[in-house]
Amino acid sequence: MSEIVDLRSDTLTKPTAAMRSAMEAADVGDDVYGEDPTVRLLEERVADLFGHQAALFTPTGSMANVLAVRTVVGVGQEVLCESRAHIARAELGAHAAYTGLTMRTWTTPDGSIDLPAIKALFAPDMGPFFVPTAAIAVENTHNFAGGSVIPIEDLRALKDFTVSAGAAVHIDGARIWNAHVATGTSLADYGRTSDVMAVCLSKGLGAPIGSLVVGSQDAIDESRIWRKRMGGGMRQVGILAAAGLHALDHHIERLSQDHANAALLADAIGATSATNIVVADVPDAVAIVAAAREEGVWVSAVGPTTVRAVTHLDVDAAAVRRAADVLARLLD
Ligand SMILES: *Cc1c(COP(=O)(O)O)cnc(C)c1O
Repeated sequence: MSEIVDLRSDTLTKPTAAMRSAMEAADVGDDVYGEDPTVRLLEERVADLFGHQAALFTPTGSMANVLAVRTVVGVGQEVLCESRAHIARAELGAHAAYTGLTMRTWTTPDGSIDLPAIKALFAPDMGPFFVPTAAIAVENTHNFAGGSVIPIEDLRALKDFTVSAGAAVHIDGARIWNAHVATGTSLADYGRTSDVMAVCLSKGLGAPIGSLVVGSQDAIDESRIWRKRMGGGMRQVGILAAAGLHALDHHIERLSQDHANAALLADAIGATSATNIVVADVPDAVAIVAAAREEGVWVSAVGPTTVRAVTHLDVDAAAVRRAADVLARLLD
């Protein structure tokens, strides 16, 4: 059998030799004491990229989302998000379990912002009657909606609304880098449309670990305390921050190759793709995943009738072409 083409997720990338060298060479210290120079460098750099005051390194994107959202949503308050948002579907209820918040959702085919729906859902604080809306969360790019990009104009309109309504915007930017490369919109422009963000180094950017909370100095000071409280205070973690810095230097612009590969795959199976994720509607997702796996093409079922394939650093165009042939045949 030919080599396996693993398109289950862009989390599957392994650190490159150059990334490992950067990790080996990293200056380290105890980051709980604030003494790891490489972590500090990464946090300052990422805060600057998004035009926010500060950032905080976390082991996972889920932890970054929980920390970020809890800076703007309190116990018994709600966050509004799209119904397939990662915070609603894929964090195992962490926001309810740790923060004690509730969620209500709007639904759009492509995961986009539906401002009229948000305005209709929005609940101002009226005292002891209704759950007040404290924040709107937007996922950019949107994972389960097929890596769709949220247009900057929509983000700006949402920000304007929340400023007047007295709520905050959280951006789950696990793949904000893909949105940036696909549109040319600067990371700082995305940053300006948010109060707080979570961004991942371990997806398309190819680092083995790491995400960051990005926001105001107050939000980050508070998140630092909660990160420790949740058991996420790490020590000589500069070896991981070095992987992140390497990824920022070398793995952002190349995301365009992943997007081209995803477009090639989408084209072959009659689907569409905005960035590095292709989702296809099929009669039986589990059956397709099993049949593809028999032929060395690994994809995932993210719903009973939804198959997802994700392109990344560790699959080249030739491998994606082979996967496209197999999937096109199976879906025919
Ligand atoms: C992967 C992902 C996260 C974070 O996931 P972890 O596995 O906890 O790092 C957050 N949001 C989105 C949209 C994601 O795709």
